[in-house]
Amino acid sequence: MTTVRRDLGLTRGEEQRAAQRLRREYPWLAILVLDPEDDDDWRLCPRVSPHPSIPVGQPVELLWCADSPGDGRVIEYTCTCGMTNYELLSYGGIYRIRRVTVPRDDVPPVSYTGGWRRPEAYEWWRRVLSGQAR
Ligand SMILES: [Zn+2]
Repeated sequence: MTTVRRDLGLTRGEEQRAAQRLRREYPWLAILVLDPEDDDDWRLCPRVSPHPSIPVGQPVELLWCADSPGDGRVIEYTCTCGMTNYELLSYGGIYRIRRVTVPRDDVPPVSYTGGWRRPEAYEWWRRVLSGQAR
């Protein structure tokens, strides 16, 4: 870090301001960049709900739609500390998964998939959590 600062001609204050801004605006990136040896890398995580796994192999691509089907009842949910989190919703016996993610060019911030009966919905929920579907 000191070498980078010297090469860029930054003062210590400038470096600290940049680090503060990074911690505030991109906390997950700040951890990777500023505290790579910190083993407490989920410091902003309440550690209550599960985290979706990183996709393995060739995950099944679910069909996500940005149109809201209305408010369902939240049955299960993943932790919100990452870039993407998921909720399993019930609409009176029909189940969908809601995906909330940071805005990207090709992915809407909120989208929905499903329309399943319960056993099928839990199977897809399991696959999403285990990285076999996304
Ligand atoms: Zn978390």
